[in-house]
Amino acid sequence: MSENNAAQEQPAVVTSENSAIMQTVGATESTLLQDEVTGEEESPLVSFNDLGLSAPVLQAVSDLGFESPTPIQEQAIPLLLAGNDLIGQAQTGTGKTAAFALPILSKLDDSLQGIQALVLEPTRELALQVAESFQAFARHVEDFRVAPVYGGASYENQIRSLRHGAQVVVGTPGRLIDLMERGKLDVSKVRCVVLDEADEMLRMGFIEDVNWILSQLPAKRQTALFSATMPDAIRRIAHQHLVSPQEVRIESRTTTATTVHQRYWVVSGVHKIDAMTRILEVEPYDAVLVFVRTKTDAEDVANKLQGRGLACAALHGDIPQRQREKIIERLKSGSLDIIIATDVAARGLDVDRITHVFNYDIPYDAESYVHRIGRTGRAGRTGEAILFVSPRERRALRQIERVTRQRIEPLRMPTAADVNKRRLENFRNQILETIAGGGLEEYLEVVSDLLSDDSLEPETLAAALAKMAQRGSSLLLDENAPEHLHADFEVKRRERRIPSAEPAPLRDFPEMKMVRYRLAVGRRDGVKPGQIVGAIANEAGMESKYIGEICIFDTFSTVDLPEGMPQETADILAAARVCGRKLDIREYTAEPPRRRRDFAPLTAPDYVASELGNEDEDEGEYRHEPGDINGNSINYRPRQRYDRPLGERRCIDFNGPRRFEGPRPPRGGKRFDRSPAVATRRGFGTPPSIRRRNGF
Ligand code: AMP
Repeated sequence: MSENNAAQEQPAVVTSENSAIMQTVGATESTLLQDEVTGEEESPLVSFNDLGLSAPVLQAVSDLGFESPTPIQEQAIPLLLAGNDLIGQAQTGTGKTAAFALPILSKLDDSLQGIQALVLEPTRELALQVAESFQAFARHVEDFRVAPVYGGASYENQIRSLRHGAQVVVGTPGRLIDLMERGKLDVSKVRCVVLDEADEMLRMGFIEDVNWILSQLPAKRQTALFSATMPDAIRRIAHQHLVSPQEVRIESRTTTATTVHQRYWVVSGVHKIDAMTRILEVEPYDAVLVFVRTKTDAEDVANKLQGRGLACAALHGDIPQRQREKIIERLKSGSLDIIIATDVAARGLDVDRITHVFNYDIPYDAESYVHRIGRTGRAGRTGEAILFVSPRERRALRQIERVTRQRIEPLRMPTAADVNKRRLENFRNQILETIAGGGLEEYLEVVSDLLSDDSLEPETLAAALAKMAQRGSSLLLDENAPEHLHADFEVKRRERRIPSAEPAPLRDFPEMKMVRYRLAVGRRDGVKPGQIVGAIANEAGMESKYIGEICIFDTFSTVDLPEGMPQETADILAAARVCGRKLDIREYTAEPPRRRRDFAPLTAPDYVASELGNEDEDEGEYRHEPGDINGNSINYRPRQRYDRPLGERRCIDFNGPRRFEGPRPPRGGKRFDRSPAVATRRGFGTPPSIRRRNGF
């Protein structure tokens, strides 16, 4: 615990010891010294048991199938357990939630009543997700309660869960402030606060809210700040609110083998297994190493592949050492071709015949990506690395490309026709091998007998035997059947060239009639989907869940909104400015615009090439969906705009009952009344209740 606002010191920077930066200048120079990814160069294995976590927390981690801490966990957990304030530079997917949740849970004091830890998240989805993680990590912690609180949902349930006595509250800044103002959230006992995704909160205009919340907490507390990037504004917050913070940054190796051909495929969830089996059917391979995140996943994927007739084995920390050695021996000798492994179990694995590495689950950081793919392309051979990436993980993909300074190409998924071609080839080869193998005498008699009937052609007989050999199932895939082997953003990239006038249904309200609008701000203006959501939510007072698909083109964008926009709202949105340009909103039609060049489609079909090195650039289009937390957060609390005089501020009830049939946003026009952001213009720290009395 540290005294807040005490004299500040420069943060100590802790970086992963084993992750020396080995930066090379360009792809051509980035040749990997093979030993750099073998066991000798890897860090000594740190286990969760070494970090000082409590027994119930360790039990939960083991139940969840986590084998070893990720780099951010390895560094941050001991520092947080020791009571340090902490700045953690890490993004989603690195295991940062456990990095702060596990120490918080380990340090809970069950003799204390009240909220002991507060976690600030930029979006409702993250708040829910992080609260769920707390619940999962606390499954063996007695009487543990976590309360997620966020905007756009009823207060009652949230107040009830607070009343039941949560030790940890995870919330979005706006709702936290509301609850604090209403006296429903007592923060006087808070001993630890986490600012998660701080740069995201900054981007969404929450920083003054965050400052206000922090100013209300006990001075004697521990503060941890996690952020994917560290812009100056975040450093300032850290400087203002953290005391002698330790800084954890996981540096990455930047070298990868040029002998490894790297490809990615956009796919998520259950479709990964289909995608992998499809690739394995067509791609010639010798041995394959598939990386997953947890022991449970290793077993699960191995079972599924076995179910599809592929001989494979899982390799993870729960498998006894002797058995693991046997599995590796079988892989070496060629009696086994596919292994599904966790990072830990595959450490030091050195088998020359591995031709393919699948990153079935994306690794936590670029360094482990380098380690993983270094298992192929060994001993002077070439290797193939295939990375599965879900639409939400596209930032992580770009991060890997940036750090390794190598391009990962999109994979061309084999079509059903490719598979059929390969199956027929294999079948033909099997027949020829069977003929070459001999021992056919006992069947020749019956075949000659059948052929003595002149009406039976030899081809027909052979085809009948071939059909029998398939035991009732078809050898070939239906080439016209719909496929689900890829996720959305790949498909959308192709579609975006011809903007359709057809609005997409809302995910939460698919029955709601939508209209596609055109906005006169586009990629050339540097607009991001979040800014469009922000403008509409701010200006029209509309909840983000009613804002549908957003597509950004070179010179304009489209957004889908519920039918029945009041004229007043349309006028305000038409005049609103984003990126210095008037939105000029109007219904989108597929008719050619007055100026032809307005419709110039994006010419770069390959976004990786166009975006390498540009961290914050959004893709050309964006589906606005709950849970899209990587870079395109949506559930923000509408902000007051500073660039309009106070007198002009107003909140429009977009869903006004006269014209709009859909559900009514719960908070109506009151929301701007209590924006702490407004208060900052009148002096930071003015309690929202006083501001309200002052009339704004
Ligand atoms: P996060 O970066 O916190 O969003 O975590 C990303 C994912 O990694 C989540 O699904 C976690 O459950 C998982 N995860 C976190 N730490 C570990 C670990 N040490 N081993 C395996 N999986 C982990």
